[in-house]
Amino acid sequence: MRFKPIKQRGIMLRNFNIIVCVIAAIVTVLLVITIERTQRLYSNTHEMSQRMVLLTNDAFQLQDASDYLTEQIRAFAVTGEKKYMDNYFEEACTTKRRDKALEELGKYKADSESYASLSAAMVKSLNLMNTEYYAAKLTIQGYGLRVNESNFKYWKEINEALESVELWATDQNKSNLEKRKQASEILFNTTYRKRKEEITDDMRKCLSKLTDELSAEQQEIFSELQTQLLIEHILIAVMVLLVLTLVLLASFQVFHPLKVFVQKVKNDEQLPEIGAYEMRFLAKNYNIASLANKQQKEELIYEASHDELTGLYNRRGYELALENVNIDKSAVLMVDIDKFKTINDTYGHDIGDEILKRVASELFKTFGPYGYLCRLGGDEFVVVMTNTDESYKDKIRKGVIKINERLARKRGEAPPISISAGAAFGKEVRAIDAVLKEADKALYKAKDKGRGDICFFEQ
Ligand code: GH3
Ligand code: MG
Repeated sequence: MRFKPIKQRGIMLRNFNIIVCVIAAIVTVLLVITIERTQRLYSNTHEMSQRMVLLTNDAFQLQDASDYLTEQIRAFAVTGEKKYMDNYFEEACTTKRRDKALEELGKYKADSESYASLSAAMVKSLNLMNTEYYAAKLTIQGYGLRVNESNFKYWKEINEALESVELWATDQNKSNLEKRKQASEILFNTTYRKRKEEITDDMRKCLSKLTDELSAEQQEIFSELQTQLLIEHILIAVMVLLVLTLVLLASFQVFHPLKVFVQKVKNDEQLPEIGAYEMRFLAKNYNIASLANKQQKEELIYEASHDELTGLYNRRGYELALENVNIDKSAVLMVDIDKFKTINDTYGHDIGDEILKRVASELFKTFGPYGYLCRLGGDEFVVVMTNTDESYKDKIRKGVIKINERLARKRGEAPPISISAGAAFGKEVRAIDAVLKEADKALYKAKDKGRGDICFFEQ
């Protein structure tokens, strides 16, 4: 059997499945991207905190280096010990903490205010060095030191730095002691201290700007992080909704219809067209197949219980019909065509068949409404009349006489014929076979009496 397509109704599970898969794939990709981005933002925050510490440290390094230079030059001016001068130039030319700090800050915040402040501090620190060189020259002369390889480790750098330093005439003429005093005076006086404070101020400014800038960056990352988390929540909600939709869809479109179908199949009923398109398709085609099957069964049952030639019940149908009959209140009429063998022999089997059909039709017209009509075989018929008692005798006799009157008329090639009938009534509880035998006896009596008539069984 070919399955019939049905009108497009209900959700198509196949299409829905594809849509859900596509949405799930998109959401998953978005979720992976968002989670990855969130992780990056988290590590950015971590990096930022670390950078904050490092940059703050850098800023302090500049201050420390500047203080260290002051310390060393002052110590040199006060004691005249060469190691302090070497320490000074080691910091200024080799360690270079100030330059490194500025370079480090410049890497991350070249255009920032904090960098500008640190640069200003650096410029001031460099400017201050000119004063310190001046004091250094005074000290070297004050202690009568020679700047060469044997005295100073950084003799080259010292010479190079002090070469361009010209002592004022007033200082040039001073004695060694006065020069030493003057050097200390320059390094400890208010002007020097003020200039140092200016460097410190720039440092503070730099630190405060740095803090502001980094916290602004942190704030930016934080709000970005919040947006990412919101997107993540939305995507997870979409996923949950998707799963819920799938569960609900499976319940209402598939599982519920399946449950109903199983019950209906058990009860041998038609399936309702409910649920998804595929379920409706199954129901529709099951219904068609089941209906065809039922019709086939009914046809088979009909064929098995009916006589093909006359359409009346056959022996099997007659037996089934008797199961529904209350024989106490029924009459049995047995009918046999008279001299049928001769008719068959004379007119042929086909005409014989015509006559069988005609007799069946006449019996149906007269006794059809009263009960069951059967052709038991050959030219023998039985009429089981329900709710019929002896008061119907006359009616039955008249019926048979009327049939014989009609059959006496020639029709086409078929000759006139007659039937003989025997009737019996079921009065009290007794076997149906007994009533049949009585009707049969009555039929023989009718045959014996010359045929074409009806006899009732009498005790
Ligand atoms: P009686 O009056 O005593 O009944 O004589 P009869 O010749 O009718 O004898 P009987 O009832 O015994 O004959 C039945 C005949 O019915 C025998 C057979 O040739 C014929 N017959 C049986 N079945 C069919 C059938 O399906 N078609 C035809 N045309 N004839 C059948
Ligand atoms: Mg006969």
